[in-house]
Amino acid sequence: MTHTTQPTASHFIDGEYVEDTAGDVITCIYPATGKPIATVHAATPAVVERALAAAKRAGPIWAAMSGTERGRILRRAADIIRARNHDLSVLETYDTGKPYSETSVADATSGADALEYFGGLAGSLTGEHIQLGGDWVYTVREPLGVCVGIGAWNYPTQIACWKAAPALACGNTMVFKPSETTPLCALKVAEILVEAGAPVGVFNVVQGMGAVGAALVGDERVAKVSLTGSVPTGRRVYAAAAEGMKHVTMELGGKSPLVIFDDADLENAVSGAILANFYSTGQVCSNGTRVFVQRGLHAEFVARLNARLANVVMGDPMDPAVNYGPMVSEAQMQIVQGFIAKGIEEGATLAHGGNRVARDGFFLEPTVFTDVTDDMTIARDEIFGPVLSVFAFDTEDEVMARANATPFGLAAGVFTNDLTRAHRVAQGFEAGTCYINTYNLAPVEAPFGGVKASGVGRENSKEAINHYSQVRSVYVAMGDVEAPF
Ligand code: NDP
Repeated sequence: MTHTTQPTASHFIDGEYVEDTAGDVITCIYPATGKPIATVHAATPAVVERALAAAKRAGPIWAAMSGTERGRILRRAADIIRARNHDLSVLETYDTGKPYSETSVADATSGADALEYFGGLAGSLTGEHIQLGGDWVYTVREPLGVCVGIGAWNYPTQIACWKAAPALACGNTMVFKPSETTPLCALKVAEILVEAGAPVGVFNVVQGMGAVGAALVGDERVAKVSLTGSVPTGRRVYAAAAEGMKHVTMELGGKSPLVIFDDADLENAVSGAILANFYSTGQVCSNGTRVFVQRGLHAEFVARLNARLANVVMGDPMDPAVNYGPMVSEAQMQIVQGFIAKGIEEGATLAHGGNRVARDGFFLEPTVFTDVTDDMTIARDEIFGPVLSVFAFDTEDEVMARANATPFGLAAGVFTNDLTRAHRVAQGFEAGTCYINTYNLAPVEAPFGGVKASGVGRENSKEAINHYSQVRSVYVAMGDVEAPF
């Protein structure tokens, strides 16, 4: 990393880096080597207080600016991020271990997209006028106030921007807590927003583990909580937010189905399955890890998938030729290895990979199981790693029932060349984000989020505005007041 790339302290509050070495030490490990690359400190109660006070103070200043002014700042931040894409991508790679070939096109760039998109929308956020005969009502779209963002470790830059951009566009302020596993990237987003002209205190970052997140969620100054994380954490955070009657967005886990009919284009279907399972070494919430293949195509599909996986280039994530990196941490590695062992124990056939690679860092081969049945652990639980399960099916009715037989509902995909079936299946999925003949694309223009246990609310698109603002209605009487006595 170059000197200018690295954040210079643990927290970013009120427009400046802040350190408090009394906080617990959090060591950042580079997943490709297993060696420490940085140390930050968890926020002490004093740091949490400072961040919340800063966000509260900045609120009225930021909300008083016109949407166009706020939007200009967000768009300027997007331009700075794009100009520094290389450095930010290097930092993302060090934070997560994801290969530079991915981070340079998918992380800072996606964050910039969000800032640009919501920056563009900010000036057009309005209420409406409702005529009631002579009287009328007008509505005012208002910010919620101080928002708390809590991130997972798989997309630290993107998650910070996906939450900050709509929140700030609507005139809210934010305190963001990254995952303790990937604390670095969000600090750069905070730094860049100030450089772009955001008033100090509008976007603050504090480090810490669950306890710091819980302290933020429980504070009475906080109006809204947006979490990206697992379902168990989501349940805890949602419950804590409910105590204070706070708004929530919950972007949680999944066990998404990818259904491939035997009329599908085989090569595209295999590409879809690869995108749905092995990008970011499988650490993507919307992954289509249950790949249902119609019996007529099943053998050919498995053979082609195996052949394509020979093209994986695993290695130093900074090497631009590498397209597959390590897992984020030793802990996540062991969780995923546990699932692989369970798959073998419960009788699935290991068709590809399955082994930890004998080198430094947390490298795990891309793994494919066949002969998987719906009741196996690997078919039911979210693994959050590079493990694809192939299931055989015969009919559309059968596969839809099986695809939907999960408490999760984040994403789902279908590959078929039958136009009406494609749409019928996409409508039949119990999932918030569906794909026809592709998988895992998440452009900022499209709503993203889950149903069932996978979450509440939507990120991205105009939908996100509804989750970061509220509507005041003002009744205007134009005549005399009629009272009963
Ligand atoms: P976790 O649920 O473990 O943690 C998410 C965040 O919540 C972390 O910053 C964590 O802090 C924090 N946290 C933990 N406990 C609490 C608490 N009681 N109160 C407030 N905050 C708390 O998820 P992971 O980081 O392990 O991420 C993986 C999960 O995220 C997967 O299940 C995946 O499906 C999901 N995910 C969902 C996405 C979506 O958009 N739907 C996108 C990406 C991931 P810390 O870890 O530092 O202790």
